[in-house]
Order: sequence, then structure tokens, then C-alpha cells
Amino acid sequence: MPELPEVEAAARNLRRWAVGRRIEAVRAGAGATRIFRPASARALSKLAGSRVREVKRRGKNLLLTLETPSGPLGLWSHLGMTGKWLLRAQDDPSPRFSRLALDLDDGTRLDYADLRLFGRVRLVAGARFDELPDLRALGPDPLEDGIDAPALHARFAKSKLPVKVALLDQRLLPGVGNIQASEALNRAGLDPRRPARSLSLAEVKTLARAILASIRFTLAKLAPRGRHGADGDIEYVEEPGTPNPFRVYGREGAICPRCRKGKIARIVQAARATFYCPRCQR
Ligand SMILES: [Zn+2]
Repeated sequence: MPELPEVEAAARNLRRWAVGRRIEAVRAGAGATRIFRPASARALSKLAGSRVREVKRRGKNLLLTLETPSGPLGLWSHLGMTGKWLLRAQDDPSPRFSRLALDLDDGTRLDYADLRLFGRVRLVAGARFDELPDLRALGPDPLEDGIDAPALHARFAKSKLPVKVALLDQRLLPGVGNIQASEALNRAGLDPRRPARSLSLAEVKTLARAILASIRFTLAKLAPRGRHGADGDIEYVEEPGTPNPFRVYGREGAICPRCRKGKIARIVQAARATFYCPRCQR
């Protein structure tokens, strides 16, 4: 499931592939109306003739600004659980589960593919992304803005949740999800079951550094991918046959990369799997 690093990789790909390009034609595939909620697939015809000016990312949200004859138009893309943007030549076959295809003026085609249809593509009038409640609720982006450890410590102080569960709140650290939370807590040597409010400021500072280190580590393994970059399309760890790029996530029973003595254990917190080292995470 895409988290901040995977979405950042998608943002970098979209910049390489699409900024400055004109969208010449738009096609909606099967299941498209579930992706385009609440906008109708028909509304997407507005995209044809526009030019991609800018691609930004906030948390797990991709924010594309397009130029149209009637002014800027926003395209908000959230990858959900299985969404991915892929580049193909226009005469290549569509990738599996393509829900939306944008023909660009250089003979390429951007496909938005999504197996499970939890993603979303939405038009935003005037590219006024700040007016969207979903985006306005997000805290500062960890990679773009850094992590304010004293502010995070103050938020944790009000939490009744275990630190691993508290970390998943997108209003705190947008883009940090289930995988990055496990990875960062291992790097920081913190037990994921500890109440968030029990962490000292020094521990939160260590955790903040660990989150950024984990995001950068994962990102380095992902980008650049796809056409004109290395290797093939981006793959998510849940997909069969995909190598696991993570240090502890999905590695139950493996030797801990931190202490090199303990074995990674798997527990369930708030219905999500947590991986950690019972020996060195205190
Ligand atoms: Zn360990």
C-alpha cells in the first residue's frame, strides 16, 4: 500500500513524464466512475487540451496543476491501496486495471491503474487545493516541511493510543502509514506498544529523525522507476513476487537489523500488523 515514499516516487515520475506536456485525449476505463468520485467520468473530458504545469505532493496526495484556456484546473490523485501512475507509448497495450488514460503530446500515455479501486481522482476548480477539507486537515508534510518534534511531543501528550497507532493519524504526520511507522519505531528503538504520551521529548526527537531516515531509505529503493528510469513500473510489497524493500515490515522471524540479535515479531494493533524487535525496542 503506497505511503509517503511511494507517493513521492509517483510525484517525481509524473514530473519527469508530464510537466510541460499537453493532454491530447482522455479515456476512462472499466470501474472509472468509482475512482472519479464524486466527479463523473464525463467531467474528465475537461482535461483534454490542458497542459500539465506543476506536480506537488502533500502526504499521500498528488496535486497536479493544469493550464486550461479558462484558467488553472487541479487534478487531485490519491492512490488508495493499489493505485499507480504508469507511462506507456500510445501504441502499447493498456496496463492491467487501467482506469484512466491520458494521451500526451509526445506520443506517450499516462495510465492510472488501480486493482482494488480505493484510489481517487478528482478535479479541483481553479486548482484551489487548500479549499479541500481532506487536504486542509493534514499536518505539515514530513519530507517537505520537516518534523517539529516539540509539537509532535505535545500532540502525543494528549493521546491515549499506543505510539504506533498514534503515528497513523494523518493530521500529525501525513504520509506516514503502517509500514513507515513500524520501520521508524525499530530505527528509534522504541516499543510500538508504549503509550504515545510516555515518550520523552528526547525520544520523540529520535523518532522524528528515524521517520525521516526511513522515508529516505525507502525512497532511495524506489526511484527512479519506469520508463526512462531504471527497472520497471513501481511495485508495492503486497504484490506477489515483489521484493520486500523494508527492514522489519513483513519480516517476522528475521534477525533485527538494529541489534542483530533479536528476532522480528508480528503483533496486531488497531487491526493492523506491527513488526518490531522485542529485544531492543524499549
Ligand atoms: Zn533488535
